[in-house]
This record gives sequence, structure tokens and C-alpha cells, in this order.
Amino acid sequence: MKTQSCALLVIGAGPGGYVCATRAGQLGIDTIVVEAERPGGTCLNVGCIPSKALIHAADEFAKVRGFAGPNALGISVPPPSIDMARTVEWKDGVVKRLTGGVSSLLKKAGVRYVQGKATMVDGKTVEIGSGDGAIRIRAEHIVIASGSSPVELPFMPFGGRVISSTEALSLTRLPETLAIVGGGYIGLEIGTAMAKLGVQVTVVEAAGSILPQYDAELTRPVKARLDALGVTLHLAAKARGLSADGTALVVDTADGTFEIVADHVLVTVGRTPNIAGFGLEALGLAMDGSFIAIDDRCATSMRDVYAIGDVTGDPMLAHRAMAQGAMVAEIVAGEKRAWDKRVIPAICFTDPEIVVVGALPTEVDARKAKTSIFPFLANGRALSMERSDGFVRILSDIETGLILGIQAAGVGVSEMAGQFGLAIEMAATLTDIADTIHAHPTMGEVVQEAALKGLGKALHA
Ligand code: FAD
Repeated sequence: MKTQSCALLVIGAGPGGYVCATRAGQLGIDTIVVEAERPGGTCLNVGCIPSKALIHAADEFAKVRGFAGPNALGISVPPPSIDMARTVEWKDGVVKRLTGGVSSLLKKAGVRYVQGKATMVDGKTVEIGSGDGAIRIRAEHIVIASGSSPVELPFMPFGGRVISSTEALSLTRLPETLAIVGGGYIGLEIGTAMAKLGVQVTVVEAAGSILPQYDAELTRPVKARLDALGVTLHLAAKARGLSADGTALVVDTADGTFEIVADHVLVTVGRTPNIAGFGLEALGLAMDGSFIAIDDRCATSMRDVYAIGDVTGDPMLAHRAMAQGAMVAEIVAGEKRAWDKRVIPAICFTDPEIVVVGALPTEVDARKAKTSIFPFLANGRALSMERSDGFVRILSDIETGLILGIQAAGVGVSEMAGQFGLAIEMAATLTDIADTIHAHPTMGEVVQEAALKGLGKALHA
């Protein structure tokens, strides 16, 4: 068996692992990253990027389809069609460019990339492969960035008609009907895109609302749009399995059991950390439920072993994994770092989009916090883009005006997430936002108006 050694070994080249390895390389740390599949992990290959590419293609198609009928802009075009094989090829091209970029970044930073599945031997040793080609790597520090996988329903495993988000993002032929189990952000992002592409979509959600972690005010515009797109929602409904002939999804509700005939059943009921099958158990690391327990430096219970990203728990988001990855690299380089982020933005790329940064109304003491909300309905830019649904909502401390949370629902509001996060990280107050000149005409003016409203001096209300 060949042996190698390094100062830092990173298991997994997803957003957490590749950022950690790149930063470590930049800091002059002798680093190896091991990846079982493809650089970029879930996010670049089968997650964030391909889903946003599909959403973009669906939006473009729906836009042209809208022009084929009566429309306010007076545009007329023949009814469009879509060649999904071409669309998927384009999406794969976007993914390839980005994953190629990850490989280049690692190379530029002097990181050694090893293709293969790492199995942990002990807290300092990892083996890749078997037989003559096997490699043993000894490392001073190990970072576990093994990510997560889609949760499978035991009574309806993936295969055949039952698919995960991974397969849903690569369908080269559109189904006529799609049943989605799980009305969280992944199910709704893909479901909305499919509905825009002309697929008959039905969503089955066990909770009493879609996107159950958010309040009704925030999800209302998304629900309205799903209704307009003809998506059928079954709330407080539980998928029980496939019908005996396998052509339908059987669903239980308080009112009884019924079947939804579907070409595909997409299961998006959550993601589970990748902690099994690579020798992790032998290390006996402290766990936090099914996740690896970490402290504020991402250190595990074993000396010089760190864990980052989805394998360490919620929120399972790429930007959290990346921030943890960069921090751990700097810690290994000897810098004094600890997790000091006040907020991690969360975005649902639904239609309209939802951005959540900081505290939600349900998470603050209503006697101490003020909520000010301003709609896009009164915003010139939103109106001139034909989409004025949604709003910006600011939660602030009644006494000090300190911003506690900002949420928005609206077209393109994902691009406001940075501004919201910055406000909270910089300990901004309502006055700071209200006194900042926001360019006209932009949808961002609604953020300023919401702050002005919180101060009792909204201009365009
Ligand atoms: P991963 O990206 O899962 O990477 C882990 C890597 O480790 C994998 O490549 C895996 O092959 C490798 N690995 C595992 N075990 C081993 C081993 N033993 N040896 C070698 N390699 C190993 N997040 C967002 O922030 N924004 C979004 O818009 C968004 N959209 C999403 C859409 C979908 C459809 C999905 C599924 C996810 C989405 N996510 C989104 C979540 C995001 O993809 C994850 O939070 C992110 O990828 C986590 O990064 P990670 O580095 O922890 O793990």
C-alpha cells in the first residue's frame, strides 16, 4: 500500500471541504482533499446550482408561454416547446464549468486532490481504495466534510417511479404528472419549476402548511403563486406508499385515504448526514443526534479532528459549510478563530422567493420587538416588472431600534440577503437603514420604507 502524509486531510470536496482545503492551501498548509464522487459536492452537482438552473429554464419557458397568450405587454409569439434533453445538457454544462473551477482553485492553492472514498482508520489515518491501488494517508489534522444525502422513506425506497431531487434535476423527458412528498424548500423549488414547464404537480405535506418552519405571512405569496400555477396542495396529509400496481401515491388524511396517479413520485422529506460506511463509528466521536457534535471552532470530541457542513447539523446550507470550512483552515494555520456569526441567511428560491435573516416574529418577545412590514405593491420597480406581490418585514428592538431580523418575500429578493445580513452583523438600527439613500427605482427601496415605517414615518404608505 502506498502511503502519503500531510498536515491537513479533508474528507469531501463539497462547499465545506473545498473551501476549507483551498483556504488551507492559500495559507501554506500541506493539504490533501479526498472526494468519492465529484468536486463541488451536493451543492454544485445535484443541489444549489442545478436546481437554480432548472428554475431559470422553467421561468424563461413560462415567460414565453405567457407571451403566446393575451398579455399586458402586447407581445405575441407562437406557443413554445422545450427540449428537456437540451435543457439538461445546458444545466450539466453550467455544473461542469463550476466543478472545473473548483478543481482549478484547489490546484492553484497547491492542494493535492485524491479521487476515491476515504475510510477512517483512526483519528490521524485514512485509507482510500483497496488492493494494490490502495493509499494510506497520515495527517496531523482531519476535517470531516462528508455532507448529507436525501432521506429515503422506508416504505417507498428510491428507484423506478420514486425519485430524489438528484434524479428530478436530470429528467430528460418531462413527466405529465408529478407527486411530491414534502413541501419544504427543495420540493417546492423543483415543484414550481416543473409546474412552469407544464407538468401537473401535486404536493403532499404532513404539516398543516407549506414551508412549515416559516409563518403564514411569509409563505402566503408562495401559496398564492402555487395556486395560480395549478399546483395541488394536500396539507396535513401523509404519504403511505405506492398503490399495489405502483402507478399512484397513496395518501392518508384525517378525512380518509386517497390515491394520486403520478408518473414520478419525488420524495423531498429532508436530508440525512453522511456518517455511516466510512469508519467514522470506530472513532467514537460525540454525536448531537445523528450529526457530529462540534464546538464553536468546529472541533469534534477528538483532538485535531474537525467537522464542518451538513454533517454537523442545521441549517444544512452551502454558505454555512463554506464559512465553517474557511474558519477551520485558519484555526489549523494557528489563527485564533471561533464561530461568531450572528446570522445565517436562508433562501427559498420559490416563486416568489423568500429570504429569512435573523429572528422571526415567533422567535422574539412580542412585548420587546416591533414588526414593520412594507409591500412591493407600492414600489415602482416591482410594478414595472409586473410582479408586485410580497413584502419586506423588519423586526427591531422597541427600545433601541436594533434590527433583530429581516425577511422578505418577492421576486428576486434573494439578492437582498447580503444587505439583510450586513445590517444585522453591523448591529444596524431602523434609523441606519432609513437614513441610507436607496437608489430609485429599485426593489430595495422597500427595505428603506419598511425601516421608515418602523420609525413611524413611512413616505409611500
Ligand atoms: P456536500 O456538498 O454534501 O459534500 C460532501 C462531499 O463529501 C460529497 O461530494 C461526497 O461525495 C463526499 N464524501 C462523503 N463521504 C466521503 C468519503 N468517505 N470519502 C470521500 N468523499 C466523501 N444550499 C444552499 O445554501 N442554497 C441552495 O440554494 C441550496 N439548494 C439545494 C438544492 C437541492 C436540490 C439540494 C439537494 C441541496 C441544496 N442546498 C442548498 C444544500 C447544499 O447543497 C448543502 O448544504 C451543501 O452542499 C453542504 O455542503 P457540504 O460540504 O457539507 O456537503
